[in-house]
Amino acid sequence: MPHRLETQSRKLLRRLRDTLAEPGAGQERLDRITGLIAESMVTDVCSIYLFRDPATLELCATRGLKRDAVHQTRLKLGEGLVGRVARAGEPVNSADAPAERGFRFMPETGEEAFCSFLGVPIQRLGERRGVLVVQSREARRYSDDEVYALEVVAMVLAEMTELGAFVGDEGAMAPPHMDPVMIRGGAAQEGTAEGLVWLHEPRVVITNLVNDDPEAEKERLRAAVDRLRISVDDLLSAAQTADKEHREILEAYRMFAHSRGWLKRMEQSIESGLSAEAAAEKEQSQARARLQLVPDPYLRDRLHDLDDLSNRLLRILTGQGRETGADLPERPILVARNIGPGELLEYGRKLRGVVLEEGSVGSHAAVVARALAIPLVVHAARITTEALNGDAIIVDGDEGVVHLRPDDAVASAFRDKIAVQAQAKARYAALRDRPAIARCGARVKLHMNAGIMADLPSLEGSGAEGVGLFRTELQFLLRNSMPRRSDLAALYARVMDAAAGRRVAFRTLDIGSDKVMPYMNRPDEPNPAMGWRALRVGLDKPGVLRMQMQALIRAANGRALSVMFPLVSEMAEFEGARAILMREIEREDRLGHKLPEKLEIGAMLETPSLAFAPPAFFEKVDFLSIGGNDLKQFFFAADRENELVRRRYDTLSFSFLRFIARIVARCAEAGTPLSFCGEDAGRPLDALALAAIGLRELSMRPASIGPVKEMILRADLGEVSEILDGGYRRGTERIRPLLLDYISRLPRLDQTERA
Ligand code: PEP
Ligand code: MG
Repeated sequence: MPHRLETQSRKLLRRLRDTLAEPGAGQERLDRITGLIAESMVTDVCSIYLFRDPATLELCATRGLKRDAVHQTRLKLGEGLVGRVARAGEPVNSADAPAERGFRFMPETGEEAFCSFLGVPIQRLGERRGVLVVQSREARRYSDDEVYALEVVAMVLAEMTELGAFVGDEGAMAPPHMDPVMIRGGAAQEGTAEGLVWLHEPRVVITNLVNDDPEAEKERLRAAVDRLRISVDDLLSAAQTADKEHREILEAYRMFAHSRGWLKRMEQSIESGLSAEAAAEKEQSQARARLQLVPDPYLRDRLHDLDDLSNRLLRILTGQGRETGADLPERPILVARNIGPGELLEYGRKLRGVVLEEGSVGSHAAVVARALAIPLVVHAARITTEALNGDAIIVDGDEGVVHLRPDDAVASAFRDKIAVQAQAKARYAALRDRPAIARCGARVKLHMNAGIMADLPSLEGSGAEGVGLFRTELQFLLRNSMPRRSDLAALYARVMDAAAGRRVAFRTLDIGSDKVMPYMNRPDEPNPAMGWRALRVGLDKPGVLRMQMQALIRAANGRALSVMFPLVSEMAEFEGARAILMREIEREDRLGHKLPEKLEIGAMLETPSLAFAPPAFFEKVDFLSIGGNDLKQFFFAADRENELVRRRYDTLSFSFLRFIARIVARCAEAGTPLSFCGEDAGRPLDALALAAIGLRELSMRPASIGPVKEMILRADLGEVSEILDGGYRRGTERIRPLLLDYISRLPRLDQTERA
C-alpha cells in the first residue's frame, strides 16, 4: 500500500475511534463517520446502508447523496449494486456503475450524478450488517489499495455495530442480536426445552480496534503467531497415533499457521491502522463469508480449519480463553459448532438442551445427548453467529427447530407444548411399576438400552425390567486412548451393581462403520457399514475382545453374566466368538477368579443372512436380539447414516414385518428367547406392530418405555394382528395409517381402567 494511503487510512481509523469515544446518538455518529470517510478518501459520496431486517437494506447515513433519502431508500438483498455486495459478501468496484449488471436507479438519492461506485460489505464473522459505499463523479476504478482501505474501515464499522455504537435513536439501526430468529435444523434427540444460551466457545470481544504504533502491533502479532505455531506443532506431535482424519486437520492448521499470505494480509491490515486482533478478525470474517458460498465439502472443511485457527489466534491476542469466568446460567442450553462426547458428558445433566451448528444424528455427541435425555438439534445453520451468551432460546428436539430470542407468542405456544409433555411424563411415571400387559393378556417385557454410566439412573426412573442392550463401545469412543482392563472391569461391575440383579445384556465391542475410535488405526474402506466392523474385527484381531471378556468375567465376580456378539452374519462366527469366550472363562478360572454362576451367550441378529441360518444355530445361541437399525439398513439396502435415504423405508412395511415374523417363528421353533433392540422398538406404533407379530421383549431408550407401555396397555394384540393380516391380504402398501386409525379408536387408559 502506498505510504500516503497508509497514513491516511491510519488517521481515518483513529478519527473513527475518537468518534466512537465521543458522546452522541447513533445517527449523529453515522453522519460524522460518512463525512470522515468521504473527506479522507477524497470521494464525492460516502453512504452507509444497514440491514433493517434480514432481507432489507436501508440507507442510514450519507455524505453526498440527498439527505431526504436517508431512512427512505430501501433495497432488497440482491437488489441493485448495494444489494449485490450484501448478498455476495464481496466488494463491487466499477468505473461505470449504471452499466453494471443489476444496477438500480434510485432517483430520490440524486445518485445519477455519480459514475464510479465502490461498495464493500460491513460484516462481522460472516454476519452481514450492511454495506459501505463510496461514489465519485469522475469515471474511475478504485485502486486495490483503496478497496482494501475501505474494507478495513468497514471492518471497524462492523465492530462498532457489535458494540451498539449506532443504536439509540430513530435512525440508525436495531442493535444486533436482538431480533427473534428461527432456525430449522435436524432433530437428533426429542424433547423440548426453554432456557438461556450458553456458548461452548464464547465470542471473543475486541475492544481495541485501532493501533497507535503499527510496528509494535506487528511485533505483537508475530509473537502471537509464533505461539500459535508452537501450539499447533505440539498438537501434531501429540497426535502421532491419532487417526488419519484428525492428523489431516492438524496438518491443515499447520499449513495455515505457517502461511506467509495469511500473516502478510494481517500485517497489511495493521499497517492500515487496525489492531492485531482486529486484523485477525478481519481474516476470519472473510473466511466465514467465503464459507457461506462454497458448496464443496472439502473446501468448506479447510475454511473451517482457517476459522478455528483464527479463533485460536484471537484468544492468544486477547487473552480471552474458553474460561471466561462466567457461570452457567440457570436452565443452560448449550450452543456450539460441534462438541465431542467427552465434553458433553462433562456438562452432563446440568444442560436443558443442546444446539449444534454441525453435528449429526449418529454422532457420538448425539449418543451422549440421548443417554442424558437432553433435547438436541443438529445442523442449526449460523446458530453460533446469531446467538449470544444469555439469549433466551427454545429447543424443539421433536421438530429439529430452534427459536432464538423468541417472541411472546412463540414462547407461550412452547410453554403449552412443554406442559403437555410434562403431563404425559407424569402419566408415564404413574405406570412405572406396572408390567406392560395388553388388553388381550399378552405380556411384553420392556427393557432399556444403555451405554454409559449416566444411563443407569434411568433404570429406576423408567421402570425398565433390565438392560436389553449395553453398548460397550461407548467407553472406547469417549476416550483418547484404549481403556485398561481394570477400568473396564470396574465400570461393568458398577453397571451390574446399579442393575441390582436385573439382567444386563453386554454387547461386545461394535466398532467400525459409524463408530470410530480416534486412537485405533482403521483402514479406509469403500463401504464401512458393510466392512470390517464389529465381531469381524473381534474375530480377526481378538486382543481387545479377549480383554473385554476378561473384564466382564471379573466384573460379574460370580454373578450371572449375559454377553452378546454384534453383527453375527453366520453360525461359524458365533461359534468362533463363543469359543474365545469359553477359553477366557477357563483362563480366568485358572487364575483363580470367580466364574459367573450363570452364563448366557447370545447374538445380535443384524444381517438378513442370519435369519436363514441352519436350525442348529437357533439351538446353539442362548438368546437372540434383533438389531433393527442395522438389520433394516441391510434389508432395504439403505444406509442408516445417509440423510438422503435413511427415512425412505418404513419399518411398518409388510415386507419387513413379515421378515421379522419369520425370525420370531424360527426362534419359537427352537425355543430361543428373542428380543428387539433397535430404535424402532422405542416408537409406540412400531413397538405395537412388533408385539403383535410375536415379539415379547423390546429394548429401547429409557424415555420411550412410558409411551410404549401406555400403548401396549391400551391395545389388544390380537386385534392389531388381524388388522395387519387384513391389510396384507388386501395388498395395502402402508400399515401406519391402518394402525393410527386403530389407536385413534382405542379408549384412553384411564377410561379402560374405569370400565
Ligand atoms: C442396531 O443395529 O439396531 C443396534 C441396536 O445396534 P447399533 O445401533 O449400536 O448398531
Ligand atoms: Mg447394530
